[in-house]
Amino acid sequence: MCEVSAPHLLDTLETSGYSSLHKPSTPYARWTFRKIVTFENSSKLYALNSPLKESYGKTLECGSILMQDGDTFHFWKCRKKWCTTCQNIRTADLINGYKHLLEDFKDPQMLVLTMRNCKGRELESQYKKMVHAFKLANRNIKKTHGIQIDGIRTWECTYNTQEDTYHPHFNVIVEGREVAELIRSYWMDFWNKRAHGSSRIFCQSIRPIATQKDMVEAFKYSTKLSVEHKEEVKAQDWIFQCTKGKRLAQPFGKLKRVKIEEKEHHEEKVEEAESRTEIWFYENDFKTYRNSYGECLASDEEVNNYKKERIAKKRKKHEERHKPK
Ligand SMILES: [Zn+2]
Repeated sequence: MCEVSAPHLLDTLETSGYSSLHKPSTPYARWTFRKIVTFENSSKLYALNSPLKESYGKTLECGSILMQDGDTFHFWKCRKKWCTTCQNIRTADLINGYKHLLEDFKDPQMLVLTMRNCKGRELESQYKKMVHAFKLANRNIKKTHGIQIDGIRTWECTYNTQEDTYHPHFNVIVEGREVAELIRSYWMDFWNKRAHGSSRIFCQSIRPIATQKDMVEAFKYSTKLSVEHKEEVKAQDWIFQCTKGKRLAQPFGKLKRVKIEEKEHHEEKVEEAESRTEIWFYENDFKTYRNSYGECLASDEEVNNYKKERIAKKRKKHEERHKPK
């Protein structure tokens, strides 16, 4: 049996600061909310008739049936990168797998490597160039400076609706400001030489990772799935098509040995659960999980409260980020 306690870690981190305001609750509202969000987004993606249609269809089924055995819940997960439920589990597993970065690193730094936005048709080749540029930088740093760099990088891509362009970038965690600056300078050198000065220094940020919360940010590379416009759904689909089968979180140096296992079966123990044997079905018409007696796993009120809490948290985070220094 797989023991997955990681989501608890993630959610503890996600909700820190609110714990004093609310009594500890079951994760049912959170599960329901994520299922609603993922179902809505996957439905839009599914409606596009993209080559990934079948895969989007699998996400519609992800976590649709929860099997409760005592205080433990089991469900099948799709493991797709556009699935909110699976991404949250995966992010938590990544953090658990790589948290020794924080423990071992004396001065962990978060580096963002970017370049000029590209058109959709260039996205796949841009991804390949980025991987190449990053490897080249590492190789040159080892050869010229004798430094073997250890760390992890994640690939992220955002979309600019007005310009219809894509903004792919790497989030990199390495040890020490000096190393981060070296990577940045080789990275910029690559793009300036080959792409006619297209990298911009103000986008290449470096900041120290002080807490586990900052670490979480580094892994949240494709969880922004709330898309409102049809065009954005198409852009999401295009990003997923271009990155199909590619590993978006890539450790390098000695961290290569750490393996993150992704199982289809997910199991989660809920300490506060009323012990029983039950099957819960997600019913999209009611936007909730119900059993055969029509009993709801989480009430509308609980789900709405969870949603409000998330919005408040996001707003707070946004304000903190944009606070004048
Ligand atoms: Zn899933």
